[in-house]
Amino acid sequence: MGAFNWIVFTAKCPNCGNTSIIRYQTHVASSYDGPGSERFHDHTYKLGDVLPWFDKDHPVFEDWAQGNAIEPTNEQTVSECCHGECTSCNVDCFAVIVFNDRKVAYVDSIGRIEDWPDDFYK
Ligand SMILES: [Zn+2]
Repeated sequence: MGAFNWIVFTAKCPNCGNTSIIRYQTHVASSYDGPGSERFHDHTYKLGDVLPWFDKDHPVFEDWAQGNAIEPTNEQTVSECCHGECTSCNVDCFAVIVFNDRKVAYVDSIGRIEDWPDDFYK
């Protein structure tokens, strides 16, 4: 499994139905590398945050949207189906999260893990 970060937000859980904090793993703008002793890995972000990334002149700058579950929709926007876990019932679920130029733009859909959309890799 590659590097990842966390996106945390409150939503109605598709499993238990409670309004819960759900933690999702994203591979957007994630790397075991980073400037100095920093790594773009295992940090927690929320909706509206802009994920930090390498400087523009860094060789992998353009690769911010690479990952294992990403459907590019245009140059600036990608959506990723992210694996998540409800902090209320601890059951796995998914969310399709849309990123606009590394900003966590919005959540497109949320569902149970068995309803993982076919358009996305698991
Ligand atoms: Zn739940």
